[in-house]
Amino acid sequence: SAWREDRDMGQPATLPSSEAPLKDLYEIGEIPPLGHVPRQMYAWTIRRERHGPPEDSFQIEVVPTWELGEADVLVLVMAAGVNYNGIWAGLGQPISPFDVHKQPYHIAGSDASGIVWAVGSKVTRWKVGDEVVVHCNQDDGDDEECNGGDPMFSPSQRIWGYETPDGSFAQFCRVQARQLMPRPKHLTWEECACYTLTLATAYRMLFGHAPHDIKPGQFVLVWGASGGLGVFGVQLAAASGAHVIGVISDETKRDYVLQLGARGVINRKDFKCWGQMPKVNSPEYNEWVKEARKFGKAIWDITGKRDVDMVFEHPGEQTFPVSCLVAKRGGMVVFCAGTTGFNITFDARYVWMRQKRIQGSHFAHLKQASSANQFIIDRRVDPCMSEVFPWAKIPAAHTLMWKNQHPPGNMSVLVNAPRAGLRSFEDVLEASGAPAL
Ligand code: NDP
Repeated sequence: SAWREDRDMGQPATLPSSEAPLKDLYEIGEIPPLGHVPRQMYAWTIRRERHGPPEDSFQIEVVPTWELGEADVLVLVMAAGVNYNGIWAGLGQPISPFDVHKQPYHIAGSDASGIVWAVGSKVTRWKVGDEVVVHCNQDDGDDEECNGGDPMFSPSQRIWGYETPDGSFAQFCRVQARQLMPRPKHLTWEECACYTLTLATAYRMLFGHAPHDIKPGQFVLVWGASGGLGVFGVQLAAASGAHVIGVISDETKRDYVLQLGARGVINRKDFKCWGQMPKVNSPEYNEWVKEARKFGKAIWDITGKRDVDMVFEHPGEQTFPVSCLVAKRGGMVVFCAGTTGFNITFDARYVWMRQKRIQGSHFAHLKQASSANQFIIDRRVDPCMSEVFPWAKIPAAHTLMWKNQHPPGNMSVLVNAPRAGLRSFEDVLEASGAPAL
């Protein structure tokens, strides 16, 4: 491969840091000499015949370490983030990753923190030893959207770890160089690994769809305000001077969401207007409208009788009709998912008469991800890591999320970081007993 040839020519700075014997395979948490790429690695793989719940679909295998293209980077994964991509990839829904990348196995994991371990021959921005976080957008970089447009509109746009097979639930992951961003040094490896996917998605939802980008003084309703996306919807909007109404389903989350900066919190369990919109003018419809108006009134109690400028939507089928009702005239419902179902419905009359915008949104391009990352580096947004799991518990962590039994915020798993709480490569070497650099 290109990078192996380059290494043979001695180009990248990939010399081992010690005289330690080189091996073909290292145990999890055993750190190879800096820049030494073993032939094989441990990974949690998904195979098509195992599609199903996380505990069935994920399995540990020894697989070949990825070869690099000229613009690729190999990252030694310290920690990885848990998010819905792993659940969807395991289930094979809404699409099976195998129908996209056609590889025999899939390694999920769309969030990572780690250390640059090898670089392709054309990579100049990053070098071996750099400490990084990874964002999950990939593209081929050669069309007009990638060059002066919006890379998220490129026909080659794909999500790493879902539409590509080389994600972060493995000792090494393979990424495009333009997926890397500097790591906030004040955070631990696991904190660094938990936030990028949800943070950058929330950033594009709030600020990426002009002229409906949220502005100081405006109001935004954030569904699942204590969830992975929601904690960033709340914090980013609040940091920008907007007012947030957060939705929860459990009173134990109320103070958490308020402390993130929400102006008010609504418990969705107090209302019964969920699911697909009933047939217009049926008794069920009349009941639904009554309940939805009650929900609207709860919003008004927080905003002082102002409708929300934006609805930050992702539950989908269960909440979409209400989202479209409560957005203000000329306002926007922006959505990036349909967690509760894809058959979304809404009362079309309210959308056209009140000229509301319904906007799909998907992850973020590098500039958006990087601007979002800066909020973390500047300590204006907290990663909200709720729990960190060991490597062996990767399927269990996904099951918790799938069942909506996970704690508020974002979850992480340790991959090569030998324990939680470490904040640098030196910390990792010390904790794993490897020779210092
Ligand atoms: P989380 O599970 O962390 O949070 C989702 C929140 O939604 C929960 O905390 C829950 O809060 C709320 N929720 C659950 N069920 C319902 C319901 N029936 N009605 C209303 N709210 C509900 O997940 P994430 O925030 O990480 O992800 C959410 C979705 O967004 C997933 O489908 C994910 O795949 C998608 N996503 C899409 C991205 C993209 O780029 N397109 C990127 C990131 C995520 P509560 O019970 O308190 O209301």
